[in-house]
Amino acid sequence: MKRLRRWLNKEFSEILDSNDNLRRLFISADLGITILIGMLEDRVFSEGFDVINKYDYQEWLTKHGANVKYTVESAPVRGFYDLTFAYEKGDFSKPNIEAGTILRSMMRIALNYKGAIMWKMQAGMGDTMFTPYYQVLKARGVKFEFFNKVEEVIADSDSIQQIRLTQQVALKEGVKEYNPLVNVKDLDCWPDRPNYDQLNPVQAALLQENKINLESFWSNWSEIYKQNFGQSLPQKTLVKGVDFDKVIYGISIASLPHLCPTLLAQDPNLQTMSDKVKTVATQAYQVWGNKSLSDLGWTNTPPSGEEPVLSAFVEPFDTWASMDQLLDKETWPADQEPKNVAYFCSALPLDSYPPSSDYQFPNVWSEKVKQNAIGNLTNSIHHLWPKVAGDGSFDWNVLVDLDCQSAENRFNSQFWRANIDPSERYVLSVKDSTQHRLDTDKTAFKNLYITGDWIKIGLNAGCVEAATMAGMQTSRAICGHPKIITGEKDF
Ligand SMILES: Cc1cc2nc3c(=O)[nH]c(=O)nc-3n(C[C@H](O)[C@H](O)[C@H](O)COP(=O)(O)OP(=O)(O)OC[C@H]3O[C@@H](n4cnc5c(N)ncnc54)[C@H](O)[C@@H]3O)c2cc1C
Repeated sequence: MKRLRRWLNKEFSEILDSNDNLRRLFISADLGITILIGMLEDRVFSEGFDVINKYDYQEWLTKHGANVKYTVESAPVRGFYDLTFAYEKGDFSKPNIEAGTILRSMMRIALNYKGAIMWKMQAGMGDTMFTPYYQVLKARGVKFEFFNKVEEVIADSDSIQQIRLTQQVALKEGVKEYNPLVNVKDLDCWPDRPNYDQLNPVQAALLQENKINLESFWSNWSEIYKQNFGQSLPQKTLVKGVDFDKVIYGISIASLPHLCPTLLAQDPNLQTMSDKVKTVATQAYQVWGNKSLSDLGWTNTPPSGEEPVLSAFVEPFDTWASMDQLLDKETWPADQEPKNVAYFCSALPLDSYPPSSDYQFPNVWSEKVKQNAIGNLTNSIHHLWPKVAGDGSFDWNVLVDLDCQSAENRFNSQFWRANIDPSERYVLSVKDSTQHRLDTDKTAFKNLYITGDWIKIGLNAGCVEAATMAGMQTSRAICGHPKIITGEKDF
């Protein structure tokens, strides 16, 4: 294989810059051959993928002789970093992902896929994933208590003793149980704000007037509540043996230091996991357009009609998915129906956090993401949509406009978001981190089960599959079911 690779380099290196097709073939061959060489030399076949997790993927490819100029920096390599937001502290100059974890994922995608390599959600993530999960659990008798924010999980030396909660809002008189869903065109959807009509009307009005995001780490709701009602938000403490026996902790890992200080202080392994399994903030924007993909100038749709999911694009928005399949799930005025909707996302360089009393912090980052998005459309999108954009210009008239904005302000009626809350940071697989992940029941606390895409589950990468597998592992630890979790072990 090494001889074949030497021959490829010798034979073709002179003409790789000038011949796109040949360069792409060369990169594919060099990548495939190098991965095989590396897997053999590092005994991945006998010892499993985790044996190479001490290397970052690009570092590992370089170590095994991949062409640094063409292959290590190529789109098929960088694309995987982009799709998994694999940049330390969101810094695009610091790509970092465990070689073993990414190779396992790539092999599973390439060799074990069912039907297609990639599936696009047929509605929002909340509506296709979390609504059915919620509905099936509810049908099986699970009791949900919305608007109860966990403030702290408190342990003694070997078990969870208390959970402190804040009850954020009261329900409207007569509403016995909160229904979190809204129905859009016959689909139960998960809205991005509470169903205010089910809440106490005075509290609901205050939430809306003050644009309160109850999920935000930097929310000033407790102060506003106190000013208006002359008392603090109601607090509850759940007590072991009275309110609970076992605790399933499913909040994401970056919240551990804020919510579980006593657990971290008493469990060195949990502390190490919290330190070593890193997370990253992310940014996203979505634009709805009145032109079709081909009228934007995108010419690469294959005859079979699949629209692009594209990574390794220009920072700060390296990933684009054309999501036109969602348009018929949305309601629009008849004369405003969009012909195209594009989703963009990327890592966000944010790693130092102010205290929760800095209420303006989310607005500051939201504005930064907005400017990043406008910059992306103005300066970079012409590579993909040449008919509506140039280098330094974008035709804002191509965006659908519900709010009667002038062309230059039309971005205001689109969507953008900075995902910066500790619990919404994307879970990374930085090199040497998998070995510090714990199984669901391997903390020092015998009545605690941790769960989510951050525990040790075989896949060890941030995705819904991993979160689902983690839930299954938790269930198995509690009741023995399911015995087999597909993908939990290496091939
Ligand atoms: C921008 C982005 C794009 C992604 N794209 C994809 C994709 O295309 N495909 C894919 O498979 N995966 C994707 N993921 C990853 C996927 O979203 C996660 O893997 C998955 O959501 C993890 O599920 P979880 O249950 O472990 O944690 P979460 O979904 O984070 O659930 C934790 C829950 O805890 C709640 N919570 C937090 N704090 C508190 C508190 N104090 N009190 C009470 N509740 C609290 C939160 O509100 C949340 O509902 C993406 C992630 C991001 C950030």
